[in-house]
Amino acid sequence: MKSAQHLIKTFLLWELWKGLFLTGRYLFAKKFTIRYPEEKTPQSPRFRGLHALRRYENGEERCIACKLCEAVCPALAITIDVEPRDDGSRRTTRYDIDLSKCIFCGFCEEACPVDSIVETRIYEYHGEKRSDLLMNKVKLLAVGADEEGRIAEDRAADAKYR
Ligand code: SF4
Ligand code: SF4
Repeated sequence: MKSAQHLIKTFLLWELWKGLFLTGRYLFAKKFTIRYPEEKTPQSPRFRGLHALRRYENGEERCIACKLCEAVCPALAITIDVEPRDDGSRRTTRYDIDLSKCIFCGFCEEACPVDSIVETRIYEYHGEKRSDLLMNKVKLLAVGADEEGRIAEDRAADAKYR
């Protein structure tokens, strides 16, 4: 009896119709995929993307060269050189991040006492060669200047949940 049933199903291409029925069901179901890059998924205000160094509103660098971010970085991706200024304040003369080492853990951001080094929401960047992924102080401050509005908004949104 079983073999007769099997024979009929084989003759009618039963398994094929079952598969097509399943495909047809998903054709009209709600889609979970998006058409990147035209469509993008929502991002958290805590998204950890490309790094930036921030300035205060008066233009002064926030960074006080305490080197906490360098010390805490598990990937040893941050390199900082420091020199005192004429007014006695400590400032960095070099602030490099090697993005090819960085694991985007956010520890540097967490460690910073003055909210200077931050991770922005930027994730669409690439490098053709390794040196393209070396961020220096000039580049980091430039990203900070471009993104300051959104960084401040994200900080305000995040503060509501703390
Ligand atoms: S995100 Fe993590 S790995 Fe990357 S620079 Fe900061 S501390 Fe280092
Ligand atoms: S970015 Fe923040 S943690 Fe790093 S050296 Fe500057 S002040 Fe210190």
